[in-house]
Amino acid sequence: MTAKILDGNALAQKLRADFKTRAEALAARGTRPGLAVILVGEDPASQVYVRNKVAACEKAGFHSEKIVYAPDVAPQVVLDRIAELNADPKIHGILVQLPLPKHFDSDAVLEAIAVEKDVDGFHAENVGALMQGQPRFIPCTPYGVMKFFEEAGVDLKGKEAVVIGRSNIVGKPMAMLLLHAGATVTVCHSQTQDLLFHTRRADVLVAAIGKPKFVTAAMVKPGAVVIDVGINRLPDGKLCGDVDFDGVKEVAAAITPVPGGVGPMTITMLLANTLEAAERAAQ
Ligand code: NDP
Repeated sequence: MTAKILDGNALAQKLRADFKTRAEALAARGTRPGLAVILVGEDPASQVYVRNKVAACEKAGFHSEKIVYAPDVAPQVVLDRIAELNADPKIHGILVQLPLPKHFDSDAVLEAIAVEKDVDGFHAENVGALMQGQPRFIPCTPYGVMKFFEEAGVDLKGKEAVVIGRSNIVGKPMAMLLLHAGATVTVCHSQTQDLLFHTRRADVLVAAIGKPKFVTAAMVKPGAVVIDVGINRLPDGKLCGDVDFDGVKEVAAAITPVPGGVGPMTITMLLANTLEAAERAAQ
């Protein structure tokens, strides 16, 4: 079997065209969606992510502001700026690029963002709302993954879904969304005793580990849908996912590639959340 490749670029393009139309309609009524992105420090990967987010906003016709601080900036300076952005009517979404330098209390920074502008969905109140099945904002990466299932017509009801990884930004919200969609969900992590036992019975397998080509064909149930969230840079400079794509595509029914899978969808869902925040603010 050769898996169907779930093309994140194509899906992202389709969704972004729709967002652009919605943004234009909103702008015609006097509200241009606006996103502020805060970057602290000079981490090269974070710089790329921020640049891509701002570029995607501009392409979609959104207003965007990029705010960059030196790595040794005092946390209060950032908190004060967030307070200003909370009160700024041009800004509907505020995103703080993680990770923050060690002298920051990341939770305090995330909690400082107004809940109705927290387009990453990381504020504790928004995490709680997601848990209760009434999300205000769905965290962008798992939200993008759910769009793949929707697009591919994967009915999650009654499916065995296994998520490898339990981070706050990917694994946990992913598990919650799968659960709400009717799947039976198992979350695996570094202390899981028999990972193979779990992955081999997964109808849907989501890998969010941060280890190149960790998931091999032998770990995958034939016919499974495999979503690769991982982004790893190999010594030769190339990007690869957490899944051994060449091996697993011979076993799975469908698979996302890296690059060109979940990555473009993450930014797309950031646009979705910002647009939705702007539409709510305009009401
Ligand atoms: P974290 O490092 O926060 O979490 C990794 C998870 O993998 C942890 O829960 C960890 O377990 C688990 N893990 C590590 N080793 C093993 C193992 N041997 N067996 C089973 N589980 C293991 O990473 P993130 O969730 O932030 O990101 C995961 C990957 O996704 C990274 O490659 C990241 O770059 C990528 N990413 C991609 C995005 C995109 O847009 N495509 C967006 C966000 C992230 P434990 O909790 O026990 O330590």
